Amino acid sequence: MTLTGKKGLVLGVANKRSLAWAIAKRASEAGADLALTFQGERLEENVRELAGTLARESQILPCDVAADDQLDALFAKIRETMGRLDFVVHGAAFAPREALSAPFSQTTREAFRMALDISAYSLVALARGAQPLMTEGGSLLTLTYLGAERVLPNYNVMGVAKAALECSVRYLASDLGPQNIRVNAISAGPVKTLAAAGISGFSDILGVYRDRAPLRRNTEAGEVGDTGVFLISDAARGITGEVLYVDGGYHVMGM
Ligand code: NAP
Repeated sequence: MTLTGKKGLVLGVANKRSLAWAIAKRASEAGADLALTFQGERLEENVRELAGTLARESQILPCDVAADDQLDALFAKIRETMGRLDFVVHGAAFAPREALSAPFSQTTREAFRMALDISAYSLVALARGAQPLMTEGGSLLTLTYLGAERVLPNYNVMGVAKAALECSVRYLASDLGPQNIRVNAISAGPVKTLAAAGISGFSDILGVYRDRAPLRRNTEAGEVGDTGVFLISDAARGITGEVLYVDGGYHVMGM
């Protein structure tokens, strides 16, 4: 699969374990020109260092997806430097740590608002910003989890946010399809990343997948990266509104 000549924006790289990084790495190897974002100065150095290891030169821009002015500035900069966009990878998600350990019924209004805003609404905001730049069609890709459909211990309000995210994928696919902009999600199996570490009991979930997934092993970030490149590429030109599972088949099991 080639992404030669394609220009992409990747949000959600925190470190080398990030799923967004796995997609960025593979996309760069496949020939794409990338802009990567970081949230807050704390992560800038990290992202710059990682970007230096990509197969092709990339640009690094700030973006907190909860801030409309930062989103506006991001797309203005991309218009200026890249001229157009072919794909956006949305790998940002957040819920306050206490909401990922206390009983779901204890979720506060503010935790609910933040989780939904950062993890779901941000895709809608990104789609709106990217649309005028996707002059030759395009592809939006986000990352979700089985917790959108089934109850997993402590996933709580993030499950509600992922349900909203997956539904947003379908509505956006319908809205943007006439402009040949595709919108899809990868539902990844659990991978030990910074965000995952915030979920209480995450290691137990990893063990259950290893024991029960048809492939009898945990998902590797590189598998998500490869599927990401597929969904972004023209090889997936007929696919939109889809949630594609990269979880070793765990989601098909009843027990
Ligand atoms: P990660 O490396 O921690 O990535 C999450 C990213 O979201 C971080 O870069 C984080 O930055 C960023 N983020 C949080 N709030 C933000 C904001 N307001 N603006 C911009 N960026 C923000 O963890 P990950 O596991 O790769 O997560 C990537 C995506 O995959 C998430 O949507 C996650 O739900 C999804 N996913 C993960 C798994 C898994 O098991 N790891 C499975 C299925 C789906 P900060 O570090 O600065 O907060």
